[in-house]
Amino acid sequence: ATPMSIMVGVGRGAQMGVLIKNAEALELMEKVDTVVVDKTGTLTEGKPAVVAVELAESFHTHTADELLWLAAAVENASEHPLARAIVDKAHSALAAGTESSAGRLPEVADFDAPAGKGVLGIVEGREVLIGTAGFLTSQDIDPAPLADKATQLRRTGATAVLVAIDGTPAGVIGIADQVKDTTPAALTALRKEGIEVIMLTGDNQVTAAAVAADLGIDRIEAEVLPDHKADVVNRLRAEGRVVAFAGDGVNDAPALAAADVGLAMGTGTDVAIESAGVTLLRGDLNGIAHARQLSHAVMSNVR
Ligand code: ADP
Ligand code: MG
Repeated sequence: ATPMSIMVGVGRGAQMGVLIKNAEALELMEKVDTVVVDKTGTLTEGKPAVVAVELAESFHTHTADELLWLAAAVENASEHPLARAIVDKAHSALAAGTESSAGRLPEVADFDAPAGKGVLGIVEGREVLIGTAGFLTSQDIDPAPLADKATQLRRTGATAVLVAIDGTPAGVIGIADQVKDTTPAALTALRKEGIEVIMLTGDNQVTAAAVAADLGIDRIEAEVLPDHKADVVNRLRAEGRVVAFAGDGVNDAPALAAADVGLAMGTGTDVAIESAGVTLLRGDLNGIAHARQLSHAVMSNVR
C-alpha cells in the first residue's frame, strides 16, 4: 500500500476507535482467517466479582466470612483481577458485619504467586493456598473434596478458585465476570466473514465451555499457562492460518507479539498495548471487523 493510503486508513481507524500502530498490521488484517481471543478482560469486562463462597465439609466449623477473610489476606498481596475481587468482597462483608477490626486485613508472610496457578502465604500462623486444582495438587493437597462444588459454579460460567487451609481443602470461591455488551455482535460480524473464532484462556475448561456456549464459540483452548499462550498462536500459524490475537493482560503480551496481527484492548495493560500492532479503544471487539474492512479498502486501492 502507498504511504498515502495507509495514512488515510489509519486516520479512519482512529475515528472508529481502532488505533493502528504499524502499517503491516493494517495490510495483513484483510487476510486474517482466524481470530484467537483471550476470555477474561477481552470477551468479558475484566471486572470479576465474588458471587459465592462455599465451605468444604471439613471446614464447616468455620464461617464463609472466615474463609473469605483468610483468602483475602493473601490475595491482598496480588494484583490479579481475581485477587482484587476477593479483597473487595472481604472488605464489603466486613463493613456489613459487626466486627470492629476496622477493615484491615492481616499481614501475609512467605507470599508466593506462581503465574496462572494461584497464590499462597501464611496468615495468622495458618497456611493459606488459593488457586487451581493443579496448584493444590502440586502442593500435595488433594482437591477432590472440592470438585463437585467447583464444577457447579463453573457450569454457570463463573471462575471457581479453590482454597486450602493448613493442607486441607477448605472451600471454593465463585467469581463471575460479565460478557461485554459489545461482544456478541462483534463475534457475529466475524463469523459472517467466515472467520474462525477460538477462545484462549488460563481458566478452567468447564468455565470456558460455559462462556463459549453462550457466545456460540465452538473451539476453546483452556487451562493454558501464560507461557504457552504464544505457542497456541504459533501452532495455528504453522497450519498456514493468518492469525489475529486479541488480549488485554500481561500474560497476553507474548501471544500478541507472536500473532500476524496483535489486537490489544485499550482498557488493558500497558504491556499488552506495547506488544500489539492495533489497539481497540474501550476494548470494543467490533473494532476487529472494522479493521478488516479498512484493510480491504486500503489494499484494494493499491490493486
Ligand atoms: P486468564 O487467562 O483467564 O487471564 P490466568 O492465566 O491469569 O487467567 O489464571 C489462570 C487461572 O489461575 C485462574 O482462572 C485461577 O484459577 C488461577 N489464578 C491465577 N491467579 C490467581 C489468584 N491471584 N488467585 C486465585 N487464583 C488464581
Ligand atoms: Mg485477560
